[in-house]
Amino acid sequence: SRDSVKGFLKRNLFVLFTVAAVVLGVILGYTLRPHKLSQREIKYFAFPGELLMRMLKMLVLPLIVSSLVTGISSLDSKASGKMGMRAVVYYMVTTLIAVFIGIVVVTIIQPGKGSWHSPVAKGRNIEPVQAMKLCLTKRYKTVYKKTVRTRNVTVPLNLTDSLNVTESKLDANLSKVLHTIQETVEEMVPGSSSSAGVNALGLVIFSMCFGLVIGNMKQQGQPLRDFFDCLNEAIMRLVAIIIWYAPVGIMFLIAAKIVEMQNLADVWSQLGMYTMSVIVGLLIHGLFVLPLLYFVVTKKNPYSFIGGLLQALITALGTSSSSATLPITFRCLEENNHVDKRVTRFVLPVGATINMDGTALYEAVAAIFIAQVNDMDLNFGQILTISITATAASIGAAGIPQAGLVTMVIVLTSVGLPTEDITLIIAVDWFLDRLRTTTNVLGDSLGAGILEHLSRKELEFQDAELHNSVVEEN
Ligand code: ASP
Repeated sequence: SRDSVKGFLKRNLFVLFTVAAVVLGVILGYTLRPHKLSQREIKYFAFPGELLMRMLKMLVLPLIVSSLVTGISSLDSKASGKMGMRAVVYYMVTTLIAVFIGIVVVTIIQPGKGSWHSPVAKGRNIEPVQAMKLCLTKRYKTVYKKTVRTRNVTVPLNLTDSLNVTESKLDANLSKVLHTIQETVEEMVPGSSSSAGVNALGLVIFSMCFGLVIGNMKQQGQPLRDFFDCLNEAIMRLVAIIIWYAPVGIMFLIAAKIVEMQNLADVWSQLGMYTMSVIVGLLIHGLFVLPLLYFVVTKKNPYSFIGGLLQALITALGTSSSSATLPITFRCLEENNHVDKRVTRFVLPVGATINMDGTALYEAVAAIFIAQVNDMDLNFGQILTISITATAASIGAAGIPQAGLVTMVIVLTSVGLPTEDITLIIAVDWFLDRLRTTTNVLGDSLGAGILEHLSRKELEFQDAELHNSVVEEN
């Protein structure tokens, strides 16, 4: 009937807008593409999208701090300890499963073999693999240098190195790995809050400690608890306003990317099978494995839960950043899926920063792809090393666009693969980045649902305590 149609539209208005934004963005992008816009014109055209990115990023810092502080200080230390442990187990298990799926898929599809033999090597008197390398590396070297520089990476990447791995280079590689680990640990202890916008990990750790302390301050801590609670509420109200603008921003983000991207046919002929491998892996993990896990634990329908997340997933697709998507993820989980705020406030900021299933899967596929291109047969030990370092690299990657590409260095060096070969996969990284970010957000969100279910006893206990204390006061 008409009323139910109206009700449906009202409930799903934003989702419809957001989906429409994606479609319109694609159409707009392809309409403008033939006009060959200049860099400057593209920049103007991308402006509405850039605005959305900035609005979302602006909220991330106060959101992470206020939600973690209230989330943790509102639980007693036993409950938060238990929930924290469960979260860590969930993050580790799902990330390792993702890596495993990636390894299986890339080993079956073998994108780094065979498929190269045709267009690139034809008519040249060189090995197909080298031909492809020549062709791809030349083109993307400069792009890669730029990417690395703008991301502030201090790991020296010697692009002119020969492709062979020598003993001394292995030593150098080891020190690179150590250096990266050291940097990650350093980031956990933020020296100043001014860099906090970038250093989400430090912010998370600081806020957790702060929340624990306030939680233990009993009556004395009440004003601070109220303050952060109120701050969190205020930020979420800002999110509710920004969400109206989100579809416009997403439309322009997508359209601008389509206008400036390279010719798809070129990229497809060179990296099609690799792209396919990542996509297949992400789909298996995001659409089957994670939902199955959710179903097994909660006995609820995972797909209706995912339905409530659509806006967040599309925002992840548009922004390629788990951190920037965080405000929308919060809103979807709390408003649409009614997940307990004590859970979302605790686990979402942590999840967005360290739990990245999509990134881990991608890192494993990319590393093995590069091994295949180099005709290097990996033994079991090396594959195990890749699994572990891909997991570490996903934890170390910040929730910002293409961070995973940079932490790839850890994975490649751990098994002695040439880091300069990252240049091979740069052409499609922007695209895969969007998909893996979406998977990352999905993993965090389903995780919140699962953890809420597992922690329901503690939450009920806490409710009862609260109730009792209110009754006593009266
Ligand atoms: N862009 C991803 C994220 O924000 C991280 C990555 O580059 O893999 O989740």
